[in-house]
Amino acid sequence: MTEEYIVVGAGLTGCVMAHELHKAGGRVLIVERNTYIGGNTSDVLHESGIRMHRNGPHYFRCGSDALWNYVRQFAEFYPYRAQIQALVNGRPEAWPIQREYIAQRCGSKSQAVFDGVPRNFEEACLGRMPRAVYEDFIKHYTIKQWGIQPTELAPGLAARIQIVSADRPHLAGAKRHHGLPLGGYTRMMERMIDGIPRLLACDYLQHRRSFHAARMLIYTGGIDAFFNYDNGYLDYRSQRRETEYFPDEEMRQSVAQLNYPSPAEAAIRSIEWKHLLPAAERKRIQGTLITREYPVAARGDEALEYPVPDAGNTALYKHYRRRAERIGKVLICGRLGEYRYYDMDQAIARARKLAGDLLAHRNSRVVMRTPLTARGPAAADSPPRTTC
Ligand SMILES: Cc1cc2nc3c(=O)[nH]c(=O)nc-3n(C[C@H](O)[C@H](O)[C@H](O)COP(=O)(O)OP(=O)(O)OC[C@H]3O[C@@H](n4cnc5c(N)ncnc54)[C@H](O)[C@@H]3O)c2cc1C
Repeated sequence: MTEEYIVVGAGLTGCVMAHELHKAGGRVLIVERNTYIGGNTSDVLHESGIRMHRNGPHYFRCGSDALWNYVRQFAEFYPYRAQIQALVNGRPEAWPIQREYIAQRCGSKSQAVFDGVPRNFEEACLGRMPRAVYEDFIKHYTIKQWGIQPTELAPGLAARIQIVSADRPHLAGAKRHHGLPLGGYTRMMERMIDGIPRLLACDYLQHRRSFHAARMLIYTGGIDAFFNYDNGYLDYRSQRRETEYFPDEEMRQSVAQLNYPSPAEAAIRSIEWKHLLPAAERKRIQGTLITREYPVAARGDEALEYPVPDAGNTALYKHYRRRAERIGKVLICGRLGEYRYYDMDQAIARARKLAGDLLAHRNSRVVMRTPLTARGPAAADSPPRTTC
């Protein structure tokens, strides 16, 4: 099959790029290995009428008015701000950590306990809070999330951990616009790629010889898979999920997301999806739906979630990236192609930029090489989530 642009992957990156190229008159074919579109952001409607996201809760937030207007072309958004608590010593406590909690827990010993230049994540956290608070909220949660000791993680990961006041409980510098698309993310992306031919349930890598992109192949799957893992696998942390419907209960949690930082609890968090629905819809629904998440290591063909920000994986990614640079007419991008955690607004902004760059070269005779460099994005450059 020959097309001007072939977009592999119908996640946010692929859908935004396909939309932009198609809008500019490009001939685009989307190839997606799942039987549905939406990628990591896709959602489904449970038989109770409760919408759930397949791969953990996706809270949309963005700081840019332009990007907020962009996504609202494809869906009406209703207001929703993530509500998160952590179950600490048997009690639900607010997340982010509040100064009032620290004062109550540690009294006159409320100061940070590490003074110096932190060499690792644990020291960076102890430079900002007492040890008891670090252990309550962060230490064991981090061990569950990453499967390694906090002393083995980079200090920069602590950048996302903030301490707030009860009267201003949200993260400082938080993005201005928050919401969820009415009808879900999958429907939003369906509108984005309306009118663009697509092949679902087709793994591009298994059939790559059947496809020819006259101008550019845009590949948003794993960069290690693209090269048949021949230099090794990139590691990820993912979650195994168990979902249970409780037909006779209205609600089980006071917030949508309850984190479990205690080592005594195997799950890392539980999500009550009903909280994410618009209020009027929530009232009409019988029962409630809970998903419990258990972190696992993942690689290769498994469900891949968070890139592991260590030196070995970063070096391996750079190696694959250098190989990708040497191939013409192929752009490997997106969270899996760049082995990097992107929030949805970042993924959309990046996809628009990359599509814009491709279109700028469309009428030039210069064959465009992939615009990402080996020195460019890598897992360790961007702090991954440590808590939600
Ligand atoms: C657990 C988790 C929770 C998150 N929560 C939030 C949140 O609350 N807020 C937020 O802003 N962001 C969140 N994100 C980030 C969000 O999921 C990403 O920004 C988004 O998924 C990026 O889209 P993408 O298209 O780059 O990747 P993906 O969505 O992974 O899309 C890649 C697509 O390529 C397809 N594909 C791969 N290989 C092939 C192949 N060989 N052939 C054909 N198709 C292929 C895949 O099936 C997939 O559909 C979260 C991420 C994770 C991991």
